[in-house]
Amino acid sequence: MAWKPTRREFLLITGAASLTFPFSGRGEERQAVKAIVNPYEAVDWETFKHHKAALHLHTLQSDGFQMPDRVIRGYRRAGYDIMAISDHDFFEPNRQVVAGNLPEEAASPYPEEPLPDNYPANPTWPWSDYGSEDPPALDMVGIVSNELTGRHHINSYFNDFGLWKENGTADADGNPMWEDDIIEAVRERNGLAILDHPWWSSPPTWERRPLDWYIERYLTNSPDCLVGIEVTNCGAQHESYDEGLWDQLLVRFMPNRPIWGFGTDDMHHLDRARESYSVFVLPELTNTSARQAMATGQFYFCKSSHHLDYTQEDPDRIAFPRIEAIEVDDAGETIQIHGQDYDQIAWISAPVSLEPVDDYQTSDEPWPQGEVVHFGETLNIRDTPYIRNYVRAELRRSDDKGTHRTFTNPFGIEMA
Ligand SMILES: [Zn+2]
Ligand SMILES: [Zn+2]
Repeated sequence: MAWKPTRREFLLITGAASLTFPFSGRGEERQAVKAIVNPYEAVDWETFKHHKAALHLHTLQSDGFQMPDRVIRGYRRAGYDIMAISDHDFFEPNRQVVAGNLPEEAASPYPEEPLPDNYPANPTWPWSDYGSEDPPALDMVGIVSNELTGRHHINSYFNDFGLWKENGTADADGNPMWEDDIIEAVRERNGLAILDHPWWSSPPTWERRPLDWYIERYLTNSPDCLVGIEVTNCGAQHESYDEGLWDQLLVRFMPNRPIWGFGTDDMHHLDRARESYSVFVLPELTNTSARQAMATGQFYFCKSSHHLDYTQEDPDRIAFPRIEAIEVDDAGETIQIHGQDYDQIAWISAPVSLEPVDDYQTSDEPWPQGEVVHFGETLNIRDTPYIRNYVRAELRRSDDKGTHRTFTNPFGIEMA
């Protein structure tokens, strides 16, 4: 069933409200804060554990360069205990061998006969069918996943849906499928989905999608399935592009329809990985609680300009800014972050400009990003001008290895 926007969201989306929010703007009298919607509300920071999650990994089963077991062992060794192998549904295995980038003997023999019913749209799952140990033997959570590739890339989790290559971007019966059809197919299988790396859809690679296109996807598709967007992927030079898009969506959708931000490194080659990942805060390390956290935003994400070689036994790791606890006071007016290893905590709310990029078809100019409204450990919402319907925090540090950032998910702000 399609998700229906509230009247306020409808007015915002259609422009009828001209983006004059029912909240205070510049120079206006502030309204009282009614509530802060806290994605970490269920977290007991004393007892819950932080679990590194790699949610976007490629292997020889599509266009990656290594066997699944090498990828899984490499990330496991680097401290990850939640993983999704998200090979492209669209590609047959060993694409890099076919392209001549790897020798014949590097080819994966998997999947073995009989091929999965939905080959080549199948996910790389169960791992034991692809030469790896299964997640319980590795003391971790594995998530069945596919990168749905024929249209705007979409990562799907907790289900095995894939698009059929023989039929183009279509279902098994040859019916063409567009993004909403694809997300609906994931939803029917009780899966979760996120839109991947929007900057890839900018020139010269693809035709860039207008802002309205993204707005429509989150309006049309249920937040029970389309839970978020990749905000940090592998393109450092483009990171403000995806961050700006996220802010442009949050200012239109929060607090009623959250869009969670995900960090992934979209790894294709283990020794050319980038450090970008998500961290789930869980009462127990199970598929059920990982799924719950993914759906409710109970995680944060990290991104560094530092590159990491996961083929090394002891890769050159960096200490990311660490979140130890987040407290929202009972009156709903302050948010406080306790952390370590940061130089600065920046609080970011709505972008000043909500104008679309006019020449989006030819430009990869980023969408205007959210505005920093405060620095420091504690944010007092009532005392901080210009906060609108959401605020998010970034913990930042720079050192000789680069810049390292940890992002919270957005806190929704309801005004009285
Ligand atoms: Zn992709
Ligand atoms: Zn990918």
